Amino acid sequence: MSAHWTREELKAAVEAYIQMRSNQANGIHFVKKHIYSELANRFGRTEKSFEFRMQNISYVYSLMGREWIYGLKPAKNVGSKIAAEIERLIAEIERQNLSNVVEFETQVVSYKAEGSLSKPGGVKEPRKTHSQVTSSDRDPKVKAWILMEASGKCECCGSEAPFTTSDGEPFLEVHHLRHLADGGSDTITNAVALCPNCHREMHYGMNKSELKKSMYRKLSRLEQE
Ligand SMILES: [Zn+2]
Ligand SMILES: [Zn+2]
Repeated sequence: MSAHWTREELKAAVEAYIQMRSNQANGIHFVKKHIYSELANRFGRTEKSFEFRMQNISYVYSLMGREWIYGLKPAKNVGSKIAAEIERLIAEIERQNLSNVVEFETQVVSYKAEGSLSKPGGVKEPRKTHSQVTSSDRDPKVKAWILMEASGKCECCGSEAPFTTSDGEPFLEVHHLRHLADGGSDTITNAVALCPNCHREMHYGMNKSELKKSMYRKLSRLEQE
């Protein structure tokens, strides 16, 4: 791979990707190789490097929970800054609101890939503004650590994760027992890995306060806030 990608190059790649994605959705025929070759000529990179970049863009779409182009299997070895830049470009070109999940999630993935992680300190008082999904000052190490600790099983009901994600990981969600929106900390003493059913129940269930108490009894790492 050659040197640093400029914003212009990345933008051209994302634009071409979005065009192909839309052609695919509309059943319009296109030849990927021609598109790479055109980009390669324009920017003086190899076709292969554009193909690989396209797979990184697929990976960003997968982290956003969206469809990618068939035949462009997500490739996750992309730095979190570049991944975040791709996410911003997608939002800009599609004229959508930026969900801002990608930088955080790529950091979670790379911490998990390290294989072992010492207990992270987390963030005692995360800002509450973006608490619904991913607050920008959450610590990706906390999520990575919790997921590794759970090793594919819901910490509430003990079931295996209900499915495997597109990048081969068991799907579990990280929940904060004292919600971030209520001033809870983003730390391993306040977070648990849950299957989607238990997660919904923890938010909406009739017996949610019982369920929450049972988590404190079951997991000694947790501390009531
Ligand atoms: Zn569960
Ligand atoms: Zn939750």
